[in-house]
Amino acid sequence: LVQLYMPLNFLGFVYREIKQSLTDMESMFRLLRENAEIEDSAHAAPLVLSGGEVRFDDVRFGYDPEREILGGVSFTVPAGRTVAIVGPSGAGKSTISRLLFRFYDVNGGAVVIDGQDIRDITQASLRSTIGIVPQDTVLFNDTIYYNIAYGRPGASKDEIEQAAQLARIHDFVITLPQGYDTRVGERGLKLSGGEKQRVAIARTILKRPSILIFDEATSALDTHTEKEIQVSLREVSRDRTTLIVAHRLSTVVDADEILVLDQGRVVERGRHDQLLAADGAYAGMWRKQQEAAQLQERLETELA
Ligand code: ATP
Repeated sequence: LVQLYMPLNFLGFVYREIKQSLTDMESMFRLLRENAEIEDSAHAAPLVLSGGEVRFDDVRFGYDPEREILGGVSFTVPAGRTVAIVGPSGAGKSTISRLLFRFYDVNGGAVVIDGQDIRDITQASLRSTIGIVPQDTVLFNDTIYYNIAYGRPGASKDEIEQAAQLARIHDFVITLPQGYDTRVGERGLKLSGGEKQRVAIARTILKRPSILIFDEATSALDTHTEKEIQVSLREVSRDRTTLIVAHRLSTVVDADEILVLDQGRVVERGRHDQLLAADGAYAGMWRKQQEAAQLQERLETELA
């Protein structure tokens, strides 16, 4: 029986391994498929970077021809500066970040980096220039080291730990019995949304992209985690052109410009204090979030 059990057990192991690899591959193919129709044009040249200014020039876009999602969006993120996009769910905020990464081509207008229409540059050079911290980071079934090093294969352990420190995840990692060798992902330790996002930030710190897209997670975070993520975001966006898709207004207070998007159009724009003074949609959202945050903090202290 043992002779029969061993191979069966082994087969079970092989089956699980293959199934997991297939799941990893599926998510990869889903990503690739999403990008299947985008091809380099015949005259595509590598992006010539001079600071990394991002410009959306009257961008119109719809996933389906019948339904327009962005109805003429224009803004500029000067090199090294930060622009944040806020607005109700479904307004088109994440769509803007997908267009900058060229997951889709615009239907009208243009997305321009340092004066070059992104349809005229190679996708490889575009993707290596931009780092994305997505809403929901997919972790590989591997160690924390591997998952951070993925940002720059070949990075040394010191560099990885330094990135983790800047991303405010190091102190958490060293409390784990196996530290950086802890396996995470589907079959390993399940990290919370906030922890996963900090792993993604550490990856991006290692990658050192000139342009950063930060898509803030919608999921609720406790006040402490939220503050830690904001500190690490400030670290990774320093001196880099940054586009933030924000759900919490506390993330955007320091942005050089805030765009309020509603139904695919920019309805207000300015700095935090200017928008508060204007007393429009942004000021209303701010008041509501302040009240909610105060309530949450009271609850957290009472529960602590
Ligand atoms: P949230 O704050 O909820 O993340 P958002 O402002 O980022 O919302 P988007 O994700 O940009 O909104 O979506 C804008 C609209 O486009 C939504 O109505 C959504 O249903 C639609 N949409 C998003 N992705 C696709 C897709 N792949 N195919 C078709 N429609 C899509």
